Amino acid sequence: MKIIMLGPPGAGKGTQAKKISKKYDIPLISTGDILRKEIRERTKIGEKVKEYINDGKLAPDDIVIAIIKELLEKSDYKNGYVFDGFPRTLIQAFELDKLDVINIVLYINVPFKELVNRLSSRRNCPKCGKLYNLVFVPPKKKGICDICGTSLIHREDDKEEIVIKRINTYHEQTEPLINYYKKKKLLEEINGIGKIEEIFNNIENVLENLK
Ligand code: AMP
Repeated sequence: MKIIMLGPPGAGKGTQAKKISKKYDIPLISTGDILRKEIRERTKIGEKVKEYINDGKLAPDDIVIAIIKELLEKSDYKNGYVFDGFPRTLIQAFELDKLDVINIVLYINVPFKELVNRLSSRRNCPKCGKLYNLVFVPPKKKGICDICGTSLIHREDDKEEIVIKRINTYHEQTEPLINYYKKKKLLEEINGIGKIEEIFNNIENVLENLK
């Protein structure tokens, strides 16, 4: 199964993508995680994309597309994967069409007023990647990852001012993908409001029907 997760920042794409990856044993490809790693490791790519990410803008298409092209050539991705955060522009979607055949696009729909609250209370573990939300899924010990004991961070781009910019960027550049995939009859809309497990059950139902 080759799956795209679509939806605004804060819709819960990452959380659900991780669950899909685990349950169906397919690799997760998160372009946000890949780019953040490049920044942490101070690579050439990291240096190029840092300013965009910290300012709530998208990284340049050519950089992201080159990363995905290289990844998809590896055999680990032949049998399936779930994309979290890619494609994010029509240009990226056109390029992906040249590289592979996608089976389904899960569009996680959450009203915009919900998103700012969600993102500004999000915290993550820089070591194991576990996501927390101070309101809905707080860590057992304040500021510390339940799984690996690392100090949690508040992503620079999850701060309120940048969150608003990211949502605007989504409106302008990513939202057109909804119609693009609707026309291709690949889009399945998932209500992103509710408990994580309930939303995942809905996703499972959609994916089981695909088999
Ligand atoms: P995410 O973790 O998916 O919210 O991504 C964090 C940031 O990384 C985004 O706000 C963008 O600046 C950048 N990014 C992630 N994926 C892409 C992509 N497919 N195209 C361009 N920029 C991206």
